[in-house]
Amino acid sequence: MRYTKIIVAFLMACALITIGIVSFYSYRYEQVKENSHLQSIHEAIKQLSFSENEYRNLRDQIFSTISLLSHSSSTYRYVESPSDNTRNQLQLSLASAANGQKWFDSIGFIDAEGRGTVNINYLPSTHKANVLEGVVDVSRSEFFQYLQSLTEDEIGVWAEELSSDIDTFAKPYTPAIQVVTPVSILGIRKGYIVISVDMSILANKLNYVHRTDLSPAIVGDNGYLITGTTTLPFYGDVTNQDHGFDLAKSFPKTWEAMKTSDVQYVMEEMNAIVFKPVDKFFGQNVHLVIRLTPQQLNDRASHELNDLVKEGFFVFMIMLVFALPTVSMSLHYYHRNIESKLARAALDGMTAVMISDKSHQVIMVNGEFETMIGLTSKQVRGHNALKTLLSHNGMEFILNVLEQVDKNNLWEGEVECVTPEGQLLTTIMRIQAIIEANKVSYYITSIVDISERKELENKLRELSEKDSLTHLWNRRKFERELNLQTQLIERYPNDYSACLCLIDIDYFKRVNDEQGHDQGDRVIIKVAQVLSEKLRVTDFLARIGGEEFAVIMPHTSTLEAKVVVERLRLAIELDESLTITISAGISDLSQDSMRSYKCADIALYESKTLGRNQVSLCLTTDEVA
Ligand code: GH3
Ligand code: MG
Ligand code: MG
Repeated sequence: MRYTKIIVAFLMACALITIGIVSFYSYRYEQVKENSHLQSIHEAIKQLSFSENEYRNLRDQIFSTISLLSHSSSTYRYVESPSDNTRNQLQLSLASAANGQKWFDSIGFIDAEGRGTVNINYLPSTHKANVLEGVVDVSRSEFFQYLQSLTEDEIGVWAEELSSDIDTFAKPYTPAIQVVTPVSILGIRKGYIVISVDMSILANKLNYVHRTDLSPAIVGDNGYLITGTTTLPFYGDVTNQDHGFDLAKSFPKTWEAMKTSDVQYVMEEMNAIVFKPVDKFFGQNVHLVIRLTPQQLNDRASHELNDLVKEGFFVFMIMLVFALPTVSMSLHYYHRNIESKLARAALDGMTAVMISDKSHQVIMVNGEFETMIGLTSKQVRGHNALKTLLSHNGMEFILNVLEQVDKNNLWEGEVECVTPEGQLLTTIMRIQAIIEANKVSYYITSIVDISERKELENKLRELSEKDSLTHLWNRRKFERELNLQTQLIERYPNDYSACLCLIDIDYFKRVNDEQGHDQGDRVIIKVAQVLSEKLRVTDFLARIGGEEFAVIMPHTSTLEAKVVVERLRLAIELDESLTITISAGISDLSQDSMRSYKCADIALYESKTLGRNQVSLCLTTDEVA
């Protein structure tokens, strides 16, 4: 039963722990995810700032390179006197520039007639610049017209593919730009230096962390992608089949924010889109854009989220490990609590209870004790209250009680206790020793006040032993007393003596007859009164019949008794309110009460016979009996 309770409580605790941990960690999960997303966005923003700076460095680099090449001696020598030798010199010079920079696609020289006579191609895979032989004629292209439109020392940018026929593009499209500048001697245009840059390589160089998810894409002013490490098609604005792919259409909210506000990112359809405008990026206004898809965001958060899940699981396991002992202890405590409540309820019941230590110094008492004895818990604490309570019974009694408790670990009995106010209480007291490890730990004393009951008992007993007319002891009590006295004589034959006297009113019938029964009663009462007054307190007086009385006189010899009874007889005779006399017969008390009684009766008879109003003596040793 107890185990079932523990298991049920354990399961409930498990359920609560699960709910608690799941709710807490769900909240934390969302928080960590959100923080991680924000962290990713900030990384992307930093990336874009770096990219913009890097772009300016690259532009300066390419611009200074092209400017240097257009004014180099090898270029001048070639344009002034083109020969294999000067051409070789120029090829070497351009190849050296390509090898030095490592990110130019190609470097070439186009003469004033539109013929590409020197062409150096750089292969990033082999890290080597190669000379392309042959002459390319661009004299009829829009590109050449653009070259011719450049002023002296102007550096121009041309997106090559856009000038060509779309259908002639190599697929997949390789977005590239041509950075161009004229070569002139003394104001006469001799040709053009053209540096071609692969846009995807350029975009890669803008990325300082080599994490593909933070590679910025370059988006044109019209929303179409120019380049970037993305799977989206490029040049959607010029190729029919990819026409649908532009940022303005895919993410209108973001596109709107990019055009109008200062914000650096927008969350759209769970994507985090971070952007930065760059003016005149090799000739056109563009946006550097990093788009983090929901998947990428979650991948970036996954590490922290996994840690969180592990932590949650660990906490859950720890809680489970602690749950069982905790539940078991809680149940134990709960039961102990109920038990202590019960004990407290019992303590505060009808019985006065006192708990004392092994030397009987009080530790605590209950409310009933305070009410009954009239001492507060504070007043008795640390005192030997038992000694005070039992003081009325004498030190010998107290020592005897303590001895019994020591011997039997228990004492109980009816005992009179005295309160500090001097009130005498008849109680039933029980002193119980509580043993722990074979030693007394403390004592529990319970006291029930039976004073009222005792008083009632005493009254009832008195009623059953007293004569209702005279209030003297009745015959039953007389017989009991007589037996008691004979037992004393039996026990102390040499030291104890007592006398018995029987008294009878003379001619009492006459009183009844002449003055009525009521008057007769009054006479009996008056005789009882006179006898009581004249006797000693130690004497025992009883009405044993209608107008017959008996007196037991302890520690009295027959001669002494005769004196006493004579005095009684005389007192009755001389009492003015009485007109009667009494006769009495005395005997000594022997171990045989019947014989003593018989002797006294013989003596009484003798008094009657001799004329009444007399006292006669008949010893138990006399022959007559
Ligand atoms: P004697 O001197 O020989 O004792 O003569 P007596 O008249 O006293 O004789 P006895 O003792 O034999 O009679 C007692 C009478 O007492 C008998 C009865 O009517 C009367 N008596 C007994 N009990 C009571 C009582 O309680 N009240 C009254 N008024 N009379 C009682
Ligand atoms: Mg009589
Ligand atoms: Mg009589």
